[in-house]
Amino acid sequence: MSTRETFMNEPTRSFEAVVVGGGAAGLAGALTLARARRSVLVIDGGQPRNAPAQGVHAYLGSEGTSPADLLARGRAEVTSYGGVVEQGQVVGLKRTEGGFAVEREDGSVVAAQRLLVTTGLVDELPDIPGLAEHWGTGVLHCPYCHGWEVRDRPVGVVASGPVAVHASLLWRQWTEKVTLFAHPGRTLGSLEREKLAARGITVVDSPVEAVLSEEGGVSGVRTVDGSVVAVDAVVVPTFMRSRSQLLVDLGLEVSEQKMGEHVMGTYVAADATGATAVPGVWVAGNVTSVSEQVIGSAAAGNKAGAMINADLVMAEAERALERARAEQGAPAL
Ligand SMILES: Cc1cc2nc3c(=O)[nH]c(=O)nc-3n(C[C@H](O)[C@H](O)[C@H](O)COP(=O)(O)OP(=O)(O)OC[C@H]3O[C@@H](n4cnc5c(N)ncnc54)[C@H](O)[C@@H]3O)c2cc1C
Repeated sequence: MSTRETFMNEPTRSFEAVVVGGGAAGLAGALTLARARRSVLVIDGGQPRNAPAQGVHAYLGSEGTSPADLLARGRAEVTSYGGVVEQGQVVGLKRTEGGFAVEREDGSVVAAQRLLVTTGLVDELPDIPGLAEHWGTGVLHCPYCHGWEVRDRPVGVVASGPVAVHASLLWRQWTEKVTLFAHPGRTLGSLEREKLAARGITVVDSPVEAVLSEEGGVSGVRTVDGSVVAVDAVVVPTFMRSRSQLLVDLGLEVSEQKMGEHVMGTYVAADATGATAVPGVWVAGNVTSVSEQVIGSAAAGNKAGAMINADLVMAEAERALERARAEQGAPAL
């Protein structure tokens, strides 16, 4: 990411709004802006968080659609109203007199009056052999996204984060066959053990050494004591790190998302409309809320798009008033 004060090139194009990131949040924001007859450019790196998943679940009206199809439909909807969607990586954002300059990896620069940053987050996995290969298919984090698909089947939860006990109890709603595996640095309290046992959740105190595969899917886990436990899916709490460097370069701060004393991830704070502490910059989706799902991210993008339009409307009205008063020889406000 660029932290340069100056960009190599001058802007070659100008938009009323530039959206950085074309996932659900960004495209929903762009759709609202395009339908509000705003010139809007979406620049998207093409790495949505749920890319490895087979379907987007709990998205009303499009249940189970593949993530790629949902976004392709979103891009088509944005362009059908005159919005521009381009593949690319934004490497720098800078404030200018008229708004912002947006620099891409190829050095090209576009000007924007307002920014909507929807760069999402990165799930950081614990370093366990075999885990990353199955991320999003047999290695899961969210029961609302994947629970139905593994209902009644054996599931192993890795106690790698503060929410592991909570996660085990949650997944128990979808299957009676939940095993919680210990992880270095996480000691289970006696009350936690009692509660897990009361719900029929087995606790294995030897930590997971590797996730095992068969025919391309997860088949079990091997623990450090050499035992193998057969499971069809592994649940792992991830560290949810917001993709926030561009916002930091604009002067915004990154906050820690905590559960009790435990840090679960990071986010860039905004108000309920997505407005950040930097005037002219809005955020939506996972970059500002680690728990937001696709429908919530789209809703937040939709709201931010409307607020950006309203902000532009008010600025235009102010300028029109100034011009009108100047023409009438009235004193400036
Ligand atoms: C495995 C998995 C399965 C999931 N399943 C579901 C599910 O079934 N239902 C559900 O509701 N939620 C699901 N989720 C959650 C869902 O992925 C997120 O809620 C959603 O993707 C958030 O949308 P977003 O627009 O904020 O971010 P993203 O979808 O992550 O989109 C961010 C976009 O910004 C782009 N970007 C980032 N930085 C830059 C940059 N510098 N320049 C240009 N572009 C950039 C990225 O490439 C990406 O395309 C799942 C998550 C995971 C990990």
